[in-house]
Formats: sequence, structure tokens, C-alpha cells
Amino acid sequence: MNATLPPITVPQADPGAGYRAQKAEIDAAIMRALDSGWYILGKECSAFEVEFAAWQGAARAVGVANGTDALALILRGLGIGPGAAVATVSHTAVATVAAIEMVGASAVLVDIEPDTFTMDPAELEAVLANPPPGLPPIRAVIPVHIYGQPAAVEEIIAIANRHGAAVIEDCSQSHGALIGNRKCGTLGAAAAFSLYPTKNLGALGDGGVLSTDDAALADRIAALRQYGWRERYISDMAGVNSRLDEIQAAALRVKLGALDAVTARRQAIAAAYDAALADAPLAAPARRAGTSHVFHQYVLRCPDRSATQAHFRARGIATNIHYPVPVHAQAAYRGRIALGPAACRETERAAAEVLSLPMFAELADAQVETVCAALRALPG
Ligand SMILES: *Cc1c(COP(=O)(O)O)cnc(C)c1O
Repeated sequence: MNATLPPITVPQADPGAGYRAQKAEIDAAIMRALDSGWYILGKECSAFEVEFAAWQGAARAVGVANGTDALALILRGLGIGPGAAVATVSHTAVATVAAIEMVGASAVLVDIEPDTFTMDPAELEAVLANPPPGLPPIRAVIPVHIYGQPAAVEEIIAIANRHGAAVIEDCSQSHGALIGNRKCGTLGAAAAFSLYPTKNLGALGDGGVLSTDDAALADRIAALRQYGWRERYISDMAGVNSRLDEIQAAALRVKLGALDAVTARRQAIAAAYDAALADAPLAAPARRAGTSHVFHQYVLRCPDRSATQAHFRARGIATNIHYPVPVHAQAAYRGRIALGPAACRETERAAAEVLSLPMFAELADAQVETVCAALRALPG
């Protein structure tokens, strides 16, 4: 690192700050879990599931080990595996595609809308109407509400329904986002949430949860997450081990209580950044009409990204790139994964231009102002 650079005074993310903001309550909850003597699938996990489902406005929630497993368990619960294909986007955490392959299904990756970075419904329609040769039937579609902005999920559901495919919402970045007055994740067959520490609702380790209105699906997944047990020691289906532990669930119950305030703070920081960009050469992130954006990330498109990143770094501001390499261009997937007709051109352009500014609820007003001053000082 260049020795003349100032120290970072505004980190891009800080999961420790989220813990410190509720330390006394979280510590007490964790002690309660420790003292209970019951560490896996006990009262804390079931209470978190009930509270999360109520907050989400879904009939049921099931706690699991992480967000990748939440997606994979929904697919398994819907009977999707070998001999089926699942359509999703390449502009996402690699976990979305890893989950599809974990269950033995094939992925087909479609391009994104350039303004919102979410699944392009026209590309989805094209892929469903005219799938790539050799691909098994497309049985499910996973839109990703990337950065906290809902995808065009109503349109996607209408298209998927016409082609007999289920819609699973990847809500790992969009906890609490609204589509009209409904929580994002309640429109499809089920929704998967990562509770990774930096997510809008973050555990103090790994965690995941899924929600659905389909009680039979929730029961099936609750069994699948623990060796296929409906009854202890009796496996009437082949399951896995993917449980949310009691310590994480206890901490998550505390953090769930603060989530709406955390979201409001993220949105207020985003509004401050928007205002600072009023006369800047870069545009504020687009918002989809009729939805709310919960700003897991505040993402700019930068024609000269390394120069913009250096501009912030010179002012002690950390930035990040979500994500620098699209899934289809990663060595693990390149050349063997099916793509939509646009060959993910917009995805590749986004990967080259996106830049995430500091974004977490505990940013102090002075830190937000440091970022705003840097935005106002962007060279025209
Ligand atoms: C974080 C994330 C995941 C995976 O979650 P893990 O908890 O790390 O398994 C899946 N999809 C998206 C869009 C994510 O951001």
C-alpha cells in the first residue's frame, strides 16, 4: 500500500459496529442461550422463526445454517434437482449459482437491466420460450434483489407461471424491502435470506432463514435440514444437516428488533449520498417505481472505476466492488454454464463499473459527511 495514503476513517462495512450498537442486549441473549444447556434447534430458533415470519408477513419461516443452504433447501423442498434447470442471474454472489449446482440442477444465467442491476424479464422470457439446446427443463427461476432493490418480481412471476416454473426470491440483500406494501420475498413460492454478518440482518457467524406461505413446503424443508427427520432418528426422506444454532438465533432475535430502524438509517444515508451527487458527474442509483430500496449496498456506476476508487481512498474512505467478476466468467463456471441470448453483456459491463460506497447503519453523521464531501469533489 502507498505510504502516503491516509488511514481509513470510513470503512465500507463494519459488522462489529452492529454488535456494539446492541451489545448489552445481545450479550444477555447469548448468555440465556448458553445457560439453557440446549444448543441446537431449541426455543431460541423456534422463537426466531415465529418472529421472523411475523415480521416478514409470511406464514412460516425455517432457520438454516446459511443463505446458500436456504436456497438449496427450497429447491430440494420443491423437488428440483438432477434433470431440472434453474434460471438466475450472473450478477450475484456466486452462492446463488452454487446452491443450484449443490442440488444437482443446471443453471442458466440471464442478463440484467442496466439501471437496477436485477434480472431482465425480457431475457427471462426469451430463455423460457427458447431454452439453450441440451438444457434440462427450466423448473424454477431465482431473481436476486441485488443491493437491496427488488427485482421486477411481479413481471418475473407472471412469465415464470406461463412456463410452469416456480419463483424463489433470493432476499439475501433485501431484508425488509417493499414491493407495494408487501415485503419482498412474499410474492414467490418461497424466499431465501442469508444472515451473514454484513447482511442487513446479520448474525455473529453464519446463519440463514427462508420464508414461505406453503406450510407443507416449510414442513418438508424443516425435515430436510436435519437428516430428513420428522421424528427423531427416523429419516423418511434423505436430508442434510443445515441448522441455525441457538446462540445465533438468540442474537438474531435482538437484531431483528432493530432491523426496521437499521433500514431507515441506511435509507437516510442513501438520501444524503443522493443529495451530494446532485451536481456530480456520476448518477445516484436508480430506484424501481412502487418499491423501496433497503441499501444493502449503495452502488455507483463509474466509467473510470480505479480513478474513482483512488479519489475516495485518498480521503480515507474505503469502497468495495460487488462483484468484480460475474459468475459465468469465474474459472469454476466459465465455458460450461448456459447463458441467455444477450450472453450477459450488461452483466459484464456492470462488473467493470460498479463501486459500493460505505453503507451500514452505524456510520456516524460525520463519516457520512466525509463521503458526501468526496462525492461533491468528484472531478467533472
Ligand atoms: C450473501 C448472499 C448469499 C449467500 O449467503 P451465505 O449466507 O453466505 O451462504 C446468496 N445470495 C446472495 C445474493 C447473497 O448476497
